[in-house]
Amino acid sequence: ELDWQGKQVTVAGLGVSGIPAARVLHGLGAVVTVVNDGDDERSRAQAAELEAEGIGVRLGDGATLPPGTELIVTAPGWKPDKPLFQAAEAAGVEIWGDVELAWRLRGPGAAPWLAVTGTNGKTTTVRMLASILRAAGLKTAAVGNIGVSLLDAVLGDEDYDVLAVELSSYQLHWAPSLRAHSAAVLNLAPDHLDWHGSMEAYAADKGRIYEGNQVACVYNTADKATEDLVREADVEEGCRAIGFTLGTPGPSELGVVEGILVDRAFVANRQKNAQELAEVSDVQPPAPHNIANALAAAALARAFGVEPKAVRDGLRAFRPDPHRIELVEEIEGVVYVDDSKATNTHAAEASLAAYDPIVWIAGGLAKGATFDELVSRSAKRLRGVVLIGRDRELIREALARHAPEVPVVDLDRTDTGAMSAAVREAASLARPGDTVLLAPACASMDMFTNYNKRGEAFADAVRSLARTGRA
Ligand code: ADP
Repeated sequence: ELDWQGKQVTVAGLGVSGIPAARVLHGLGAVVTVVNDGDDERSRAQAAELEAEGIGVRLGDGATLPPGTELIVTAPGWKPDKPLFQAAEAAGVEIWGDVELAWRLRGPGAAPWLAVTGTNGKTTTVRMLASILRAAGLKTAAVGNIGVSLLDAVLGDEDYDVLAVELSSYQLHWAPSLRAHSAAVLNLAPDHLDWHGSMEAYAADKGRIYEGNQVACVYNTADKATEDLVREADVEEGCRAIGFTLGTPGPSELGVVEGILVDRAFVANRQKNAQELAEVSDVQPPAPHNIANALAAAALARAFGVEPKAVRDGLRAFRPDPHRIELVEEIEGVVYVDDSKATNTHAAEASLAAYDPIVWIAGGLAKGATFDELVSRSAKRLRGVVLIGRDRELIREALARHAPEVPVVDLDRTDTGAMSAAVREAASLARPGDTVLLAPACASMDMFTNYNKRGEAFADAVRSLARTGRA
């Protein structure tokens, strides 16, 4: 039990995690100061509200460590190399992220965490997992990017049996003492390298999710880097390494045999060597990467003791979120698919692998990524490409190197209206039987507030094309 009374806590960042954290800490008796880089109209309004409640706020200065600080609670997105953190480290001040705070504040007998990270598929897997746990009659919540916030899940009135928790590499970086019941790393591909500094640092932060696991460390047999992280982790005695594979599973694995998801890792009856869980067609959409997500969710649920029938019922009840390989319309034999959530090359590759031929709409903020692999692996399936957004040049260069014969329309636009133009261009490149696929392989913030807005702009343009013949 921590004594918060009078403790001087600096909260870094006025945002979706900072504001609730400041309020909770203030409520516990801490003396809270929020520091924020920005000093705009919105942050001034937020600051005024917090100050009225007795919380200190310093706008326009996120770099200076307030004197007397005993602990920093940071928004997960703040980069580790910030001067604020350098000052904190020099002064021996601990730094916690939002996840660490929630972990430390959870009460005695609190619900165990089943945790999921990975470059792609986190939200989907966590929601599948929650659906399975619910089908097993357990009280649970999908916690993380969508749904309930971690602090609410931990401090609210609900008495959960278990939590399905999505964790980003940023959050894991700032969560040194987190210990999950079981955890999965779905895959590891270069992403956010501008934040972490290197692929090694990114992998190390993801690997933190396995530290101290009690029952199972779930990894992807097709992605050796995830298995390496399990091997390097320091876990509780008896904790097992459990693989998932799209092929026939080995003895400590879950996999697929003749269209059936099977479990060979958690088989109660020793007479049997495998337990059938569900059919591939129970998973929506039944694309390969999504079957992998279902297997990872099933592995975590089985590690928690969930029966096979609940795995099947939970997967059947699951519905994918918008903007994740979502079919928008079919117009004159051309199918329009919104995968706006493909914000990095690894995700875009998964959806590009699912269609052929494709008119591909791509571009946005590259976040330090390179596009050679994605483009060379997908080149054969490309009918044409329409480029939008700030970093489209990088994709155009990769296309010139690996797919010189594919027609490219470079829109050279970053205004919101560019999406309608992109859909118009794509429609004129497409032939009946093609798929027009928005899978930008980039973040959206150069043109849109977020990937939802980008997906909506695409879907609006497509629907307008269907209705009026003009996007
Ligand atoms: P996250 O929460 O990790 O961002 P989502 O479940 O929201 O993941 O999916 C993000 C994107 O990644 C989507 O575009 C989806 O098509 C793609 N995707 C989902 N699962 C996988 C996977 N296992 N491997 C590769 N790409 C995936």
